[in-house]
Amino acid sequence: MVQTPAMETPIAPRSPRKHLSQMGGPCKRLYMPLLAIVVLGIMLGYVYLSLVSMTHPNPMILPPKTIASLNRVDATHSSFGKKRLDIQDYPEDVSPATAVRTRVVMFLLDGMHFDAVLNHPEMNGLLNEPSFKKDSAVFKLTIPMPSISLPSWITHMTGSSPQYHGVSGNSAPEEVISDNLFRQAQNYGLRAAMTGDQDWRTLFTTSLQPLFGDGTRAPALNAALDETHQRGHSFIARDESWANIMYEAMLTPSVYSERDPSADWLDREPQPIDPSSVDVTYFPYDFFLSYFEDIDGQGHSFGSSSSNYASAITKKTNILRNFFEKLGQIDDIEGRSPEGQKWRTIVAITADHGHVDVGGHGGTASQVTQIPLVFYCNGSNLGTAELEGRMNIEDPLSLTRSTPYTSHDVSTTLAALLGVPTPRQSEGKMNRNFPRKI
Ligand SMILES: [Zn+2]
Repeated sequence: MVQTPAMETPIAPRSPRKHLSQMGGPCKRLYMPLLAIVVLGIMLGYVYLSLVSMTHPNPMILPPKTIASLNRVDATHSSFGKKRLDIQDYPEDVSPATAVRTRVVMFLLDGMHFDAVLNHPEMNGLLNEPSFKKDSAVFKLTIPMPSISLPSWITHMTGSSPQYHGVSGNSAPEEVISDNLFRQAQNYGLRAAMTGDQDWRTLFTTSLQPLFGDGTRAPALNAALDETHQRGHSFIARDESWANIMYEAMLTPSVYSERDPSADWLDREPQPIDPSSVDVTYFPYDFFLSYFEDIDGQGHSFGSSSSNYASAITKKTNILRNFFEKLGQIDDIEGRSPEGQKWRTIVAITADHGHVDVGGHGGTASQVTQIPLVFYCNGSNLGTAELEGRMNIEDPLSLTRSTPYTSHDVSTTLAALLGVPTPRQSEGKMNRNFPRKI
């Protein structure tokens, strides 16, 4: 019986491609595995090169060795040079009868350009009121590139530029690797908290304490009332909700106790509570950040020359007025109590970037890179203090006048006011006389 060639060679009938069967035995067997190895090699090479390009040559991400050297306790990269600005430089009076603690409250109004302190009627009106003007000073800050929110917030809190802190965009925030004001406040036993967007909590998650006394509250409360993801979206309801949580934090009497950050609690035992030694107070925070978002939202939708942007600033000015009214009431009540006033409050009002006329930011236009920094402290007479680089908000030339200050300086100035070391990677500088003028 004659067998067909197909029966003699099992490979031939399985391979309809003639040219393959003509290549010879070993080639036929090795073709597919070789192809698989080459494809796999290309894929692995691509993954390897991607990882290398993401970590090594990219100047926005620091190599581990640099991060380690920046995080050495003694390596203070600031204009203070080798000297660390320590809590001992600004000691608090700790005797109970006369103790007055310093509380720093910072308002960060997302997207409000410097122009507003001169030309916005309500904002300018508040700053120009005699009682406010007497105890306040206005400065102008320039911000590093890119002029967008999250990189700018981190520069405020760490004092380092985006090329050092490594965050150049708003997407997918993670905890910042640099030292920051919240971390230093925590290290030195201060009470710090904030109200505002949850991205802040992501950025400073292990440095930022939750609100206490009044409980931890979701910052996005009532956010569902805002219309988002469309032209004309607003964050009005969200801002109102954050303001309300701030008022609650101010007006809820809470026990204030200094923290001992190095305490070993295992060796401690509970003692009977002596009610006369318990310090119950309003607004029991050494450092409080109050963040608002709607000015930026309206700027993106309608531009900074629109009435919508202006009305968002009016709404924030009203929140500031309510804050100052409540703070004044708290100070009055404390002042009339037998122990006298317990807190001296320093208020800073600033922004993260501005907006161009048609709306938007990110670039180098002066409208987006110039932001205000207003300091107010009741009874300080800051209004007449000799301070380098202060701006006259009644002089239109202040809009174009240059400034010696940048947003890096927020970290150093606030650290000095709080009496904690300046964040270790801070490039900020500060008029060293400033805290003593308050
Ligand atoms: Zn924006």
